[in-house]
Amino acid sequence: MSIDIFLDRDGTLIEDTGYISKIEDIKMMNGVIDGLKLFMENGYRLHLVSNQSGIVRGKCTPREFAEVQSELVRRLALEGIHFTSVNFCFHAPEDRCECRKPEIGMFEMVSKKFKVFHRSAAMIGDSEVDEKAASNFKIAFWRVGVGYMDFLIAAREVIKSIEK
Ligand SMILES: [Mg+2]
Ligand SMILES: [Zn+2]
Repeated sequence: MSIDIFLDRDGTLIEDTGYISKIEDIKMMNGVIDGLKLFMENGYRLHLVSNQSGIVRGKCTPREFAEVQSELVRRLALEGIHFTSVNFCFHAPEDRCECRKPEIGMFEMVSKKFKVFHRSAAMIGDSEVDEKAASNFKIAFWRVGVGYMDFLIAAREVIKSIEK
């Protein structure tokens, strides 16, 4: 059975500098590379699920956003880390869309395409919104980030909890 890990991006994989727009500002969070490598070694599928309202808020241009994202993907690829799917919500909260976390539109799209088993899936994020999304989608949640778990420790815990 496949195992699916849903990942927030800002504040979880990379430092949340607030609507990041420059590649110089990309800083991996502690333990992320090693944690993601562990997932890859175990054959887990990685799905990025990220709210990105920075463009509609005028905080970054579509081009800046794309540059940051492709630089992140490039750096991870150098480590042998690849996402099975990359999913963004570009809406603002007032759009009341079905994809902006804590709504689960992105999760459902992934699930439809890749057949996700809720008991063999987990979400790692750094915010209450991520936690709420995981709970709405009925999958386990692990909180990382400043003041919470180190990503590598969370990754080990996720693996332990799923393989039990
Ligand atoms: Mg975040
Ligand atoms: Zn949306």
